[in-house]
Amino acid sequence: MATIERIELFRLEPPPAERAGTPPTRQSWHHTLRQATPFDRFDEPVNRREPGGMIWVKATASDGTYGLGSTDTGETAAILIEQTLGPAVTGQQVGAVDACNDRMWHACLSFGMEGLAARAIAGVDLALWDLWGKSVGEPVYRLAGGPQRQSVPCYLTGNDVDWGRELGFRKFKLARPHSVYDGQAGIEGTVEMIAKARETAGADADLMLDCWMAYDVDYAARMCEALRPFRMAWMEEMLPYWNYDGYKALRQRVPWQTMATGEHWSTKHPGIRAVQDRLVDLIQADLKWIGGFTEAMKLAHAADACGIPMCLHTGGNELYGQHWTFAAPNVHLIEYIQFSDPGVPLEECYAGSPSEAGRKAYRATPGTPVPKNGTMALPPGPGFGVHLPEDWLIPWNVDADHNQRG
Ligand SMILES: [Mg+2]
Repeated sequence: MATIERIELFRLEPPPAERAGTPPTRQSWHHTLRQATPFDRFDEPVNRREPGGMIWVKATASDGTYGLGSTDTGETAAILIEQTLGPAVTGQQVGAVDACNDRMWHACLSFGMEGLAARAIAGVDLALWDLWGKSVGEPVYRLAGGPQRQSVPCYLTGNDVDWGRELGFRKFKLARPHSVYDGQAGIEGTVEMIAKARETAGADADLMLDCWMAYDVDYAARMCEALRPFRMAWMEEMLPYWNYDGYKALRQRVPWQTMATGEHWSTKHPGIRAVQDRLVDLIQADLKWIGGFTEAMKLAHAADACGIPMCLHTGGNELYGQHWTFAAPNVHLIEYIQFSDPGVPLEECYAGSPSEAGRKAYRATPGTPVPKNGTMALPPGPGFGVHLPEDWLIPWNVDADHNQRG
């Protein structure tokens, strides 16, 4: 078997589109809804800019085969990958993904495995899985023990429920318009929004509310009580991710409410503790933020052993999450976030798309499958099936990129 020869970093720069995309019928929920956040506690907005954008990792083997991974927070990830993670995996065998993953975690052990380090590890981990798949001509979901199923139901995240219905979805997750700082008026406003969504979605549709950490325990309990008549399939991330005891208290306050959380947990450890304690009913790891395909799969097996399902955060929007979903034992649902405007076909949502709304698609590359009638089919291979024109990948230069952004 070939060995891993080098790890290189790139940014994705698709050329300008040569033709116009489908015009939208209206602006999406991203423009029309003010999403409440935990930052509503401040009078002035807080700078939340992440350090650097999406970064691409290319892992090349001694026989010239290469794999591609990507992750967020590019600037920080670039330093970690260049100085610590790349050297930790070069020289190892292609396909030794668990061993490489273990080497990367240990490389970060003394200065912190969580947060930004976990995101950097994810970029390399995904590139190594893709390299293995391309080396042996197999899709990653098969190398990871799947496929567990041939298709999986997909839910749409976004507040344009009418457009979601038109696309054939039957499961909808809406974003919260209010935080704890809005008091009773915020509860009334949320009830009004969910009542309309229930009417549009239909009595037999699944409705969920993503609270993005904007509540405290008391407000969350009051909100669940107020929304009970609308039969929410789950309430998501009602509390900040660090408030483990708060979730326990919330369980006591509203024991009948299905709860989900986990997208902001990094490394498998918070999730493993949560499934052992039955803290929530659904774990929603993010493949990039938890630390990669390998780490999320370790959590999936631990959660499955405790009888708790998982559903990746934004898993359906990119090939990495699609492969993972079809390989994991306890995943019966996939999320697709609507980044484009109503009227624009989901097929036009990827980097380099001719549609302006589509180009904003988070993480999607050309050829990424999209859900059809609320269902996602098996993704293509080999590897993750990520195929990017070579000239779209521009070498990442840490100093130059830093200076460019001032
Ligand atoms: Mg969420």
